[in-house]
Amino acid sequence: MALLSPGSVTVLVTGGAGYIGSHVVKALGEAGYRVATYDNLSTGHDWAVLYGDLVVGDLEDKGRLREAFHLYRPQAVMHFAAHIMVPESVKNPLKYYRNNTVNAVNLLEVSLDFEVETFIFSSTAAVYGIPREIPIGEGAPLEPINPYGQSKVLVERILADCAQAYPFRYVSLRYFNVGGADSQARIGQVSPEPTHLITRALKTALGQIDRLEIYGTDYPTPDGTCIRDYIQVDDLARAHVLALKYLLAGGQSRVFNCGYGHGYSVREVVEKAKEVTGVDFPVVEGGRREGDPPALVADTGRIRRELDWHPQWDDLGYIIKTAWEWEKRWSTR
Ligand code: UDP
Repeated sequence: MALLSPGSVTVLVTGGAGYIGSHVVKALGEAGYRVATYDNLSTGHDWAVLYGDLVVGDLEDKGRLREAFHLYRPQAVMHFAAHIMVPESVKNPLKYYRNNTVNAVNLLEVSLDFEVETFIFSSTAAVYGIPREIPIGEGAPLEPINPYGQSKVLVERILADCAQAYPFRYVSLRYFNVGGADSQARIGQVSPEPTHLITRALKTALGQIDRLEIYGTDYPTPDGTCIRDYIQVDDLARAHVLALKYLLAGGQSRVFNCGYGHGYSVREVVEKAKEVTGVDFPVVEGGRREGDPPALVADTGRIRRELDWHPQWDDLGYIIKTAWEWEKRWSTR
């Protein structure tokens, strides 16, 4: 297969105005690729798209999607647009199966109609449910414990079937705990009702939340709180660019974990957030949150070996610092 230069490749990015999508659009733009974002702006923002054009459209609207494919003629698609709130998925599973699963089928149909053979999918460690072993390898059983995780597993299975049936290759990236923001605080996570630990800790430091609650201190971990593998969003974005290069060079369909391969407890994150912000914000110890596995840590051997991905920002302090700079800027916007 002839190697394509980045400038001759257009990537259509669904959800490119959202948190992770916008960092990937930035990484693609910086690497010289042409980018078109397709986003309905339900949770994304037009200002977050730092490179290329933005088409405002819904994945349910196949006519609009076709127009975008017709206009940009992408060689590759990256699919981020999805709902991501686990508790909401438990309350309203059909919303998740429609938006995350059915709409992915729409996108695949249009992609195949336009002969796009290269697809990168935004998946999650939630596909593993409560893992039997730590670190978690990509071959671990897929046993999601909520409709959010299930909606992503279904798409992974559909992708595998498509790769069997059509001239089509994909990479699915299973994200562990994504955090941090752009080093210049131009883009970052925006959530009106944040549930994630780092964001909640920083909003507590800013006085926007009264106190941070630690969900459970009786887990079978060294300090009793849950352990997670936190990855800086720009390192994650680079993994997408490498996955794209891999597929464009003829690589076969593959699934990769995205994490650093080591974890931090909730208490460690809280202590680091206090250190970075310089604010001794109030913390209370509460009961467990339903559905939280004690530890989620990625086995990252595959992505390091096969995509030659090496983290540049494997540092919890840096993750929290970039999130903090972003949070301060966003809160005064
Ligand atoms: N957590 C917490 N207090 C909070 C938010 C989260 O103790 O206000 C804990 C949560 O129970 C989990 C860890 O922090 O053990 C990471 O949660 P987060 O929601 O950030 O990510 P998840 O691992 O659920 O995707």
